[in-house]
Amino acid sequence: MRQSKLFTKTRKETPVDEISKNAQLLIKAGFIYKEMSGVYAMLPLGLLTLNKIINIIREEMNGIGGQELSLTALQEKELWEKTNRWDDAVVDNWFKTKLKNDTEVGLGFTHEEPLTRLMKDHISSYRDLPLYAYQFQTKFRNEIRAKSGIMRTREFIMKDLYSFSKDEKEHMEFYEKAKQAYKNIFVRAGLGDLTYLTFASGGVFSKYSHEFQTISDSGEDIVYINKDDLGAGLNMDSRHAVLNKEVYTEEVKKELNLSGDFEENKAVEVGNIFTLGTRFSEALGLTYKDEDGKEVPVFMGSYGIGPARLMGVIAEVFSDDKGLVWPREVAPYEVHLVKLGVNPEVSDFADRLYEDLKSKGVSVLYDDRDLRPGEKFADSDLIGIPVRFVVSDKTLAVEKIEVKYRNKTDTELMLEADALKILN
Ligand code: ATP
Ligand code: MG
Repeated sequence: MRQSKLFTKTRKETPVDEISKNAQLLIKAGFIYKEMSGVYAMLPLGLLTLNKIINIIREEMNGIGGQELSLTALQEKELWEKTNRWDDAVVDNWFKTKLKNDTEVGLGFTHEEPLTRLMKDHISSYRDLPLYAYQFQTKFRNEIRAKSGIMRTREFIMKDLYSFSKDEKEHMEFYEKAKQAYKNIFVRAGLGDLTYLTFASGGVFSKYSHEFQTISDSGEDIVYINKDDLGAGLNMDSRHAVLNKEVYTEEVKKELNLSGDFEENKAVEVGNIFTLGTRFSEALGLTYKDEDGKEVPVFMGSYGIGPARLMGVIAEVFSDDKGLVWPREVAPYEVHLVKLGVNPEVSDFADRLYEDLKSKGVSVLYDDRDLRPGEKFADSDLIGIPVRFVVSDKTLAVEKIEVKYRNKTDTELMLEADALKILN
């Protein structure tokens, strides 16, 4: 992408109506546009990053046997009444509207009900189970607070996977796989060292649910990390936080009456996994015939992640006073190629390098604009692409490229072939 053609411009001023760091930075860098409080549009750079995150999640969900589908936002009142989740006194974040004939409908805030009903047409025998279906779909939630930028919005894409198993045992086998897939996602998104698997108050069937919490000052939650415990309880071994410590929410810590040296941290819930059991299958009549021909309710679980919330946390924790610092796998582009000056020979060299990188499958944002170096570097730091290649009179004289990592201060002159190697 040539930056001269990119319609979004960076902004020098911090938007005055935003208090969260992620929204301030992402607006200044041209990743998102604020429609209204708690509602943001994704601009081209923002969509590239969001889609990178979505694709990581998709790969991991496919890896554990998930089948992707897409359910509807419009929801039928009668269906949700059957599970007692239509009433505003029970669910306080519904957006509801009416059809022309006055029939009430809701805009889905989650999708257990419609998917359970849909599965009644697809599950009848034990041979149909287990099965796992997921989607990336827009949820609507009338959130009371919207102060956290893209981490808490009123309209957002959620990845929600639902598991349908024969019994609790089969369910738990999948639940463990889902846990591992979630860990992979947070590690790949660069958050492995800051994200913890947390014991949270559970649902109806399981005592605890699991939340994935990323440590950040921007968080609305508090988690307690046991400094003494190095994860024996989880029986896992890894350098990543997400794999090696038990963490508790305040409620659970109290409930278990835990003693020891606990560290209190602000954190953002980036994902959660739930054992639903037969709450929805019983209410909606989703059963299967077991091997003896007996009708048994399907045993369910649900697994959510908000890709934009993840993007917001990444912006919060990987940024400095100059701007964003994207981890490699979620950066909008791999390389920011910056051409300095107006020398036609430099331009030719940069143009050729741009084409060459593209032909090798490297994604590049090419700053081909005629601006002062200071402005270009400021933009480059604000946008936060992990690697910067600078081409100028100085580098052309030695037929090299000046290479700099966004998260480091030093620069190095490299031959093109060597510069290419660091991208792998
Ligand atoms: P919270 O307690 O933060 O409101 P939640 O318990 O309502 O979260 P779920 O309903 O389990 O969250 O949703 C699954 C995932 O969707 C969350 O872990 C989070 O990543 C994301 N998510 C939830 N609400 C929002 C929102 N308003 N904006 C963006 N992402 C969200
Ligand atoms: Mg919520």
